[in-house]
Amino acid sequence: MKVNIVRDVKVLTHRFSDYFQGFDKVDAVRRIFGEKTELALNGLRVEFTGFRGYMGVSELDGHLLISAHYLRTGNVVDIYLDIIHELVHVRQFLEGKELFDDRFSYINRPTEIEAYQFAVEEARRLGLTDERICDYLKTEWMSERDLSRLAKAMGVKTDCIDKARKKQ
Ligand SMILES: [Zn+2]
Repeated sequence: MKVNIVRDVKVLTHRFSDYFQGFDKVDAVRRIFGEKTELALNGLRVEFTGFRGYMGVSELDGHLLISAHYLRTGNVVDIYLDIIHELVHVRQFLEGKELFDDRFSYINRPTEIEAYQFAVEEARRLGLTDERICDYLKTEWMSERDLSRLAKAMGVKTDCIDKARKKQ
């Protein structure tokens, strides 16, 4: 090959607290991290990605990954709830938990269940209806069956699935 490739590249990350403010005052976040809330949020880094998608946590060092496109165009309540969800994964990572445990399917993975529980609880506190929460849980890569199971596991009525079915 007559090319030169610089392979030792750094992933550019930013301080979470430079872009996301006030999260240390959110009760749900304080329940996630407890007395380590400030420590965890101050140390958290975020990478804005050019990929389509939503958010995630790096399995290498536990930093947050957020699609710049989603951040710019997504619904702000969805984004807020996603951050709550991902902060649960950040804590799980700090505890040394396996975030991508292949022994479980996505919706049965204990780390996902816990993250969804926090997000759904926060959604209820915000006053979102079951239909809206059901909509929030819906993603294009989740089958209707999985969505229905997840919603039921969270005690959320599956109205949004039934309505979508009627429209077809
Ligand atoms: Zn998750």
